[in-house]
Amino acid sequence: MVMNLDKCIGCHTCSVTCKQTWTNRAGTEYAWFNNVETRPGQGYPRRYEDQDTWRGGWQLKHGRLVPRGGGRARRLARLFANPELPTLDDYYQPWTYDYDNLLSAPLGEDVPTAPPRSLVDGRPTAVTGGPNWDDDLGGGPDALAGDPVLSRIGTQVRLSYEQTFMFHLPRICEHCLNPSCVAVCPSGALYKRVEDGIVLVDQDRCRGWRMCVSGCPYKKVYFNHRTGKAEKCTLCYPRIEAGEPTVCSETCVGRLRYLGVLLYDPDKVGEAASVPDERDLYAAQLDCFLDPHDPAVARAAEESGIPHDWVTAARDSPVRKLICDYRVALPLHPEYRTMPMVWYVPPLSPVVDALTADGFDGEEPAALFGAIDTLRIPLEYLAELFTAGDTGPVEAALCRLAAMRAHMRRVNLREPRDPALARGVGMDED
Ligand code: SF4
Ligand code: SF4
Repeated sequence: MVMNLDKCIGCHTCSVTCKQTWTNRAGTEYAWFNNVETRPGQGYPRRYEDQDTWRGGWQLKHGRLVPRGGGRARRLARLFANPELPTLDDYYQPWTYDYDNLLSAPLGEDVPTAPPRSLVDGRPTAVTGGPNWDDDLGGGPDALAGDPVLSRIGTQVRLSYEQTFMFHLPRICEHCLNPSCVAVCPSGALYKRVEDGIVLVDQDRCRGWRMCVSGCPYKKVYFNHRTGKAEKCTLCYPRIEAGEPTVCSETCVGRLRYLGVLLYDPDKVGEAASVPDERDLYAAQLDCFLDPHDPAVARAAEESGIPHDWVTAARDSPVRKLICDYRVALPLHPEYRTMPMVWYVPPLSPVVDALTADGFDGEEPAALFGAIDTLRIPLEYLAELFTAGDTGPVEAALCRLAAMRAHMRRVNLREPRDPALARGVGMDED
């Protein structure tokens, strides 16, 4: 899946329709297979990106790829006391509003000054946050301070409200090419389907060890405390099998979720996941994807049992175009080394106003090309989310998006095309 972040309005329709379909049951009240988090912010579960606390994914040790969280003895110890499990507080307590007060309350401060409160045993009790509480902090200093990505890279916190930024990041299970949840399960209950790469939990085999919960760096496996089994996003596989899109894709208000087929070389995955420099992981994962137009690839795919329809679908796949051809989609946290398969078109935030004084309207690529450092969302922040800190691919993607936007405006206004736009971003002029 590829999600275009410029189009997400944070409405949570995807979360709610997913919940109605998959986790509307006892034991999964707190579980959101699809969630939409506010950036900057703490995420869901809280600070899941702080990998020093919530271990997961893989790390390179002495040139070998090993699950994060220590050696065999430590992993065995974790079977009995799994210290890296998020608590219910990290998933947040649900809260409601005092609707009577909401309608009759006098005018107050514009910016929230108090943390949210939830009803515990009938009494309002302060909690330290909640899903999208960061929205209400408006990207201000408190939101920035709670964001683990910013804390890690130490980007200078922007204290002025005029310089704040905010966007939404919808998240599902990444259905990784190199899934650590599968690797850590002592019961062999998690598996990646060979036919379509969907990662599933075999409910009959699951023994409730919860190693997958701590072992997933994206924290996308949930424990059902009623059944004692792990559960996770299934990429709506019954719908996919029937040729239907996932529920979140079908109901997305912004129409920002693209589903499609990508062919990849399984022999390259292990090698790609263990490149020494994590900044090379984006390019290494790209290198795993195969060109379905290549007759040798198409022949090999069909010989290995992949239906002809799928090879055709891979040729027309919007996902392949966005990732491989246009290079405007990027993986989320490739440094976890699980080779995630939900990629994102980064938000093309407006260029801050200094440039408009020079005659640019902030959307012309000329403004962007010369002034990438003045983007409202810091380039380093996006790079830390999508390319393990390498700003190059993010900058290139944003410039392409700006060029496309300028080109389409010319098309819509029936103005002459400008081939320099395509040349400026290294694309074919057609
Ligand atoms: Fe497994 Fe999904 Fe986590 Fe990847 S994102 S490790 S496939 S649960
Ligand atoms: Fe964003 Fe679409 Fe989900 Fe709304 S439904 S929050 S636009 S991904």
